[in-house]
Amino acid sequence: MDSPALFAEVILPFPINQVFSYAIPENLGLSVQPGKRVIVQFGARKLYTGLVRRTHSLSPEIKELKDILEVLDEAALVNELQMKFWEWMAGYYMCATGEVFKAALPAGLKLESESRILPNDDFNASEIKKEQLEALFYTIQNNPGLSIQELSKLSGKASLLSDIRKLIDYDAVFVEEKLRETLRIKKEKIISLANNILREEDLQNSLNKLATAPKQQQLLTEIISRSLDPEGNPRKTNIPLAEITANHSHASIKALADKELIEKSERSISSIDENVTETVMPAELNPAQVAAMDLIHSGFQEKDVILLHGVTSSGKTEIYIHLIQEMILQNKQVLYLLPEIALTSQIVNRLRRVFGDQVGIYHSRFSDGERVEVYRRTAGNAENRYKIILGVRSAIFLPFTNLGLIIVDEEHENTYKQFDPAPRYNARDSSMVLAALHGAKVLLGTATPCIETYANALSGKYGHVSLTQRYNKVLMPDIRISDIRDARKKKAMKSVFTPSLIDAIYETVAAGKQVILFQNRRGFSSYVMDETCGWIPKCKICDVSLTYHKFRNTLECHYCGYTRKVPQSCEECGSTRITNKGFGTELVEDDIALLFPGIRVARLDLDTSRTRNSYETILESFGKGEVDILVGTQMLSKGLDFENVALVGILDADQMLNFPDFRAFERSYQLMAQVSGRAGRKDKQGKVIIQTTDPGLALIHYVKANDYESMFRDQIAERQIFNYPPFVRMIRITLKHKEFAPLQIAANALADEMRIVFGKRVLGPQQPLVGRISNYYLLNILLKVEKKSSFEKARKLLSDIIRKTSNSDIFNSVRVLADVDPY
Ligand code: ADP
Ligand code: ZN
Repeated sequence: MDSPALFAEVILPFPINQVFSYAIPENLGLSVQPGKRVIVQFGARKLYTGLVRRTHSLSPEIKELKDILEVLDEAALVNELQMKFWEWMAGYYMCATGEVFKAALPAGLKLESESRILPNDDFNASEIKKEQLEALFYTIQNNPGLSIQELSKLSGKASLLSDIRKLIDYDAVFVEEKLRETLRIKKEKIISLANNILREEDLQNSLNKLATAPKQQQLLTEIISRSLDPEGNPRKTNIPLAEITANHSHASIKALADKELIEKSERSISSIDENVTETVMPAELNPAQVAAMDLIHSGFQEKDVILLHGVTSSGKTEIYIHLIQEMILQNKQVLYLLPEIALTSQIVNRLRRVFGDQVGIYHSRFSDGERVEVYRRTAGNAENRYKIILGVRSAIFLPFTNLGLIIVDEEHENTYKQFDPAPRYNARDSSMVLAALHGAKVLLGTATPCIETYANALSGKYGHVSLTQRYNKVLMPDIRISDIRDARKKKAMKSVFTPSLIDAIYETVAAGKQVILFQNRRGFSSYVMDETCGWIPKCKICDVSLTYHKFRNTLECHYCGYTRKVPQSCEECGSTRITNKGFGTELVEDDIALLFPGIRVARLDLDTSRTRNSYETILESFGKGEVDILVGTQMLSKGLDFENVALVGILDADQMLNFPDFRAFERSYQLMAQVSGRAGRKDKQGKVIIQTTDPGLALIHYVKANDYESMFRDQIAERQIFNYPPFVRMIRITLKHKEFAPLQIAANALADEMRIVFGKRVLGPQQPLVGRISNYYLLNILLKVEKKSSFEKARKLLSDIIRKTSNSDIFNSVRVLADVDPY
């Protein structure tokens, strides 16, 4: 037998690029293995969960090595491929492996002394089998929100981490994360017929046996009658316990459960159907889809990445489903990435219909316990393992063992990029590295490819498969341009609507069809201004004007959340001529209600979807036809599929284009093409009206003609002239400080150092559009590296410069962040 290693290199969740060495005490010996979590002390008293990177017996040159205190896992929680992936990510995105570790594991798996623990109030403490754990649970219940360190003090125990971990496994407690909207899944208790009595004769027998217990018999009869399928055969059906207890006693329920006639369980309440027992075959593909499948198959013989470029509603999702099925037959896992949580329930339901409970879902709105569960079942043993993971960007960190395919749906979406904190990774780009580690393939799907992606498809770096027709010969929408300036001149505008949009809304709703109105700005007005002196209320700690929210009657900062009351009069001159400027979704919703009394209107934006289910609730009621007009921001653009939408109105096409960003043109095209794609499904051509003050804009004509190619050619020419991706790769350095003067000195010093090495490739320092956020002034330095130079070398050089420069005194408390491939 091997003798145990003496030392371990441990990854700790710090932004320092270093592994930390610890000694392995004799009693832990062989249990310390790479990929397992351990508890170690760092600093004077603090305990952290770290991850063993490797073990060895060569004494590190550090005198007093601390011991590893505890090993948390029986088997490796993180596999070798994952650790390699983390190391690649840290290198590419210029951050520490510890930061990737922190992002990669769900909070429930990486407790720290400072983690704050909250009780799950729906949890029944009697489910805990161990007294000592139960006591800890009550302590947490009585002191919600204490940190683990504080709980240790209170309970007089040195190390509580492993006990708390057990409580998390029970779903008894969860970890509070400051920056997250933690909303736990509500659970409901359900009952159903037990599996072993589902045959009709068994049911009859069981009923007969209950002749002496009429109440139980009555109850069973009700449960059976609620479990019949349309043909009258009994099948397993979940019935909410609450509906049963209204008419039946708990004693009868318990009695039936004890006799193993019914089963009790729990399910989360959401629009996702968790309990698909019967699955259907994937739909048969039409000739265009079959041809695309063939091209994908042959393409993957040569290329690792294929762009599936199919117009909206061309049936891309059906193709994904067929590819997933092929993977499952080969016993491989599939990762299906989506840009947005809002989209998951529509897709989940489509996947669950075919793949049943082989689909796991991973996103941030699930509780810690649930995310831990999905994490574990992605690895897991073969029967119980998830074959398909449907998730948002962080799902690339799951412990896949046998990945065959990664699908990146709506690959052009900017939500694949993480802005803050580090790692500032792009899940689409990273997925290619993840796939390479597994020998897997990547399929990028979209109707409106990102410019860089399309350039790669044209150059042959990626395979390129197109679908140019909508499924079932549904026509592309008829897109009209409506001139706002002209309507204003004729004084024909009603609120923010041109007469042609008003007429079209009227006709559509009268015909029993639905309307989507798109305005990419939330709130009521963009800002308010005093007409007398021009005063505009601004955020106290950011350099932006505040947005008026009528419903809450507040002015709000969309960068930091600062909120104040709407002033009655100007705070500069006292005048009361305060008026609204610009408009957002809230005004659109309000004015539609005024203009069309009796019409049912709803709104989908960040403000209305803050709570866990309301995304889904809003979309569901729209899907059911309970709403005539849905007003919303870009959330509407993301691949939602509604059959009855006949009209899409884009209220302000100019506003999107006026954004000072090299991607503004591309993004406006994508947004408009995507929202337009919501119009017209099965039977009839949809209609789109784009309102603009400049009907001559080339971009709008590209959207109208569904002419991605021309948009691309325009844009790629411009990118070449002005040196933007894909002709260069960019790294944006952001410096932050509470005072501007020292910030500027530091930024200039860094830019000077960078210019010594990189010369003209360095731009700035420059103030970003919003020069101060949450009390911190910001300055950016941009590095552009031409395609033919080594990007890896550039990143290394830059890291060295930053490290060297930021050690000097002038950088005292100036923060420096690097964003590679900024979006
Ligand atoms: P996309 O992902 O390109 O937007 P979808 O896969 O959502 O397109 O297809 C659009 C619509 O057409 C959906 O309602 C889908 O169910 C239907 N559809 C696509 N392909 C098929 C098929 N082969 N058989 C039946 N229905 C299909
Ligand atoms: Zn602010």
